[in-house]
Amino acid sequence: MRKCINLEAKLHHQEETLKQLNSQILDGQQIKSMVSYYNEHQHDYEERQSQVSESTKYKRHDAYREFKQRVWDVHHNDEEMPLSEDENSDEDIIVGRAKQSLTCPLTTVYFENPVMSKLCKHNFSYHAIIQLFPRNNQAIECPIPGCDKHMSKDDLVQNHLLAKKVELAKRQETQRSKANTNYHVVTD
Ligand SMILES: [Zn+2]
Repeated sequence: MRKCINLEAKLHHQEETLKQLNSQILDGQQIKSMVSYYNEHQHDYEERQSQVSESTKYKRHDAYREFKQRVWDVHHNDEEMPLSEDENSDEDIIVGRAKQSLTCPLTTVYFENPVMSKLCKHNFSYHAIIQLFPRNNQAIECPIPGCDKHMSKDDLVQNHLLAKKVELAKRQETQRSKANTNYHVVTD
């Protein structure tokens, strides 16, 4: 995988060099030796590449990142992939990595009929958040610590995608426990 990424970057650079060369010729610039021009650029490139740290190079590559995330998911189910320190400073990675919790922050169990506040995008089980609204239908402060948004009942929308994810997780859990039961039957 890493070799692939290197090769891809290198080919891309070679293409760029040739394009530059081409446009300089079209501009009527005198190129003493095409070959030495090309080699010089390749040399520069390799020098620059060797100064970039290995991990920076690969981490910025989407395919590699996705691959890593998938491997992580296979082994760790719902856990979030930990961030290394320099990844924390890279906003792209944080956005690309976001993994949603499947439990309601109020009930701490799987979301039931999840709704999302349109204003702050926080999710809750419907029956749990609805209890927090006073009878007069006033807006409440979002119960998530550190979130200062206020919401009224009208700001809540059903989160169908999250509901589906919860369903899937529940189903997988059932299948897993069934598999475990079978295993015990055999060993007993
Ligand atoms: Zn909120």
